[in-house]
Amino acid sequence: MSAFAAGGDAAEPRDSFDVAIVGAGPGGMTAAIYASRARLSTVVLERNTAGGIMSVTERVENYPGFPEGITGFELAEKMKQQACQFGADLREIDGVVSLEQRADGSWTVVTDEATVTARAVILSPGVEARKLGVPGEAEFMGRGVSYCATCDGPLYRGKEVVVIGGGNAAVEEGMFLARFASAVHVVHRRDALRATAIAQERAFAQPNMHFIWNGQVRRIVGETKVEGVDYEHVVDHTTHTLPVSGVFFYVGQLPQTAFLRGTVELDDDGFIVTDTHLRTSRPGVFACGDARAGIIKQIANAVGEGALAAIGAEKYLDELDFAARQAGAGAPAHPAADTAS
Ligand code: NAP
Repeated sequence: MSAFAAGGDAAEPRDSFDVAIVGAGPGGMTAAIYASRARLSTVVLERNTAGGIMSVTERVENYPGFPEGITGFELAEKMKQQACQFGADLREIDGVVSLEQRADGSWTVVTDEATVTARAVILSPGVEARKLGVPGEAEFMGRGVSYCATCDGPLYRGKEVVVIGGGNAAVEEGMFLARFASAVHVVHRRDALRATAIAQERAFAQPNMHFIWNGQVRRIVGETKVEGVDYEHVVDHTTHTLPVSGVFFYVGQLPQTAFLRGTVELDDDGFIVTDTHLRTSRPGVFACGDARAGIIKQIANAVGEGALAAIGAEKYLDELDFAARQAGAGAPAHPAADTAS
């Protein structure tokens, strides 16, 4: 485990905290700001760079305070700086393996490299791009297949690309690609976009953006790199080939919650179930952000949830401390571990 920005003592890294936050997206970062500012010792465990999926968003225009818009990367850096300045310990890890409750009721977060213990946990593991699972998708990954327009868009200057999907991500990232590509073909399985009205208006006004309605991509074709996509018109069942150099998939997102299976209640799609106070099914474990079961997936929403989760964790710890004080010295700092698994 290496510290990518440590608010704690770098010479002697601690492994026991008041609060452990899994994931450094906007929800996790806000939780870190609130928890560390409340003088709780706080560690944030992140697999990728801070910011989660936000950090590869080209332009954020709907987050308050930035009327000119801001890149997702810059916003993530600002959040990280703010969390660190209050003392949060941000650690880069390969991945969280499991979350286990200890006999005294506190929690152990097991990562690939080390473990940390915490009296309360805030889960903000985020989401990653869903794969469509068509032939050629895995084969041409990095050779024309991409899930990140911000990362790979400039490679397609003057070339034609396909974007698959009809949500905000497909439309907004398609607009970004339209700066470089000679043509962006958006293939969507229905005849109406899911994206917001303003995103649609802009996309329809973009001269080099074209829409293929009722199209379902069936295969990515090429010899050594992407040369085109085969798609089916799902109404008349005709098949067509679109010659392109790049294929960008935006067909939704998957919550990164496999490590929680059997520990915390998840819904059928793997999103973390919480109550309105963002408490999960286990005591002292809260959740926020895109991996939480909820309809709205927005940065502003994740930020609000991060604040709520951290305040919930703070109150939970206050109650434990109060109960311990009432019980007298030597009383456990946690209720007995519950038996749910
Ligand atoms: P999304 O809103 O779930 O859209 C996924 C798109 O992929 C939909 O158009 C869906 O088609 C299509 N799709 C799903 N499965 C498919 C399949 N098997 N074959 C073909 N097409 C398929 O996902 P997203 O665009 O990644 O956005 C995720 C969340 O982040 C949303 O809540 C979104 O609002 C939010 N977001 C917000 C912003 C912003 O506010 N600026 C930007 C990006 C993302 P159907 O429409 O037919 O279901």
